[in-house]
Amino acid sequence: MNQQVIVAGGGIGGLACALALARSGVPTVLLEQAAAFGEVGAGLQLGPNAARVLADWGLSDALQACAAFPEALHVRDAHRGTGLGQLRLGAMAIARHGQPYATLHRADLHALLLAAVQEHGLTELRLNTRLASFTESPEGVVTTLDDGSTLVGPALLGCDGLWSRVRAQLLGPQTVRASGHLAYRGMVRMADLPVALRANVVTAWLGPRMHVVHYPVRGGEWMNVVAVVHGVLGQGHGGEPGSDPQAWTHEAQAADLKRALGPACSAVLSMIDAVPAWSLWALNDRPAMSGAHEHAQGRVALLGDAAHPLRPYLAQGAAMAMEDAWTLARIVKPARAPLDWPRALARFADTRWERNARVQQHSKRNGRIFHATGLVRWGRDTAMRWLGERLLDNPWLYDGPPEPAQDPTLSPHAKRKT
Ligand SMILES: Cc1cc2nc3c(=O)[nH]c(=O)nc-3n(C[C@H](O)[C@H](O)[C@H](O)COP(=O)(O)OP(=O)(O)OC[C@H]3O[C@@H](n4cnc5c(N)ncnc54)[C@H](O)[C@@H]3O)c2cc1C
Repeated sequence: MNQQVIVAGGGIGGLACALALARSGVPTVLLEQAAAFGEVGAGLQLGPNAARVLADWGLSDALQACAAFPEALHVRDAHRGTGLGQLRLGAMAIARHGQPYATLHRADLHALLLAAVQEHGLTELRLNTRLASFTESPEGVVTTLDDGSTLVGPALLGCDGLWSRVRAQLLGPQTVRASGHLAYRGMVRMADLPVALRANVVTAWLGPRMHVVHYPVRGGEWMNVVAVVHGVLGQGHGGEPGSDPQAWTHEAQAADLKRALGPACSAVLSMIDAVPAWSLWALNDRPAMSGAHEHAQGRVALLGDAAHPLRPYLAQGAAMAMEDAWTLARIVKPARAPLDWPRALARFADTRWERNARVQQHSKRNGRIFHATGLVRWGRDTAMRWLGERLLDNPWLYDGPPEPAQDPTLSPHAKRKT
């Protein structure tokens, strides 16, 4: 049988998976439905946990070359413009968590992972290739592609995102949930911003039923701006009523955004006015993971958004996909071929699901806190003033990913010895 593990999806999760497995000596074939890897998306934040994964893969210099490393997170009131709390990042993130806090363009992270995958040479990249379905036997997984051809491998890793076909077949039909939140996204050259707004910090402006976040990307040459409001595509916002919910972006207008934000301080309005073009992204998700069975069954596993789509309010979508990949490779590495894949994937699932579920719940809770009104808003602001850094830091998250427990019996060879 072909010994290439099949990776469905070539986003951050799929490339991370192929890279991590290549570093453990496992060959993969990666299927990506898009015709090309391109400049898609906008900014991402990577906490020290994600920087640790990249460092372990020897990619700290590559990260250094394309990311920005903000000095702090400033949380401010979007109406009054006043400061609510702050968390020192920069050198302090390294002192606290051993790794930096980075902000970068998704395309730059994607490109650095792709370059590393190509350098290792153990991954066959197939663009324009869409997985349709799979069947599993005790010996392997047979995947069928949209063109009707088949591919056989010892395991299938579904890294095919929120609308995952691998997930639909593994767990049965489940609906993706519309969160009722829309993200307006745009980028502006730092040099084109009013001087007062050109800061090397992550700024989060909180208001009732909305928030705006901006941070530097591309080594600090650009500012990435995201504004999240409550609403539905096509109803007072970009996109047509009934627009394809799977489409990543729709054109958007600053006027619609301002109307949806309601009253905002002059700094928020100046930032919005400075952005030359906006796109719109409807935020969808699924309930938090409820058990290891949602991560893996038999020879098939789900990683990244396919397993645990995240609302962006803890900025961990890319980080958790990379943590998944890192963990799987740590489990696979000690085993001698032929690997007991069902057992390795079960161990992966046991190691990952609770942490991923916690991050899903925490992200959702952050959304409620960011958009709070009335007494909850008052309580949030008071707590932020008194507890500041203690509330904003997340050591349980940033000190990860947790090391999986070792299992010396993973390969049949080792099993015979015990
Ligand atoms: C186009 C795009 C732009 C994004 N931009 C941002 C951004 O600006 N900011 C942000 O925070 N997050 C962004 N994200 C989301 C973010 O990348 C993910 O939340 C996170 O990185 C986890 O990635 P993932 O690889 O699990 O899923 P995804 O990033 O969704 O990647 C899934 C990949 O699988 C491919 N795929 C899907 N189905 C199939 C199939 N049947 N066969 C083969 N291939 C398939 C998709 O084309 C995609 O490349 C973006 C995602 C996408 C797809």
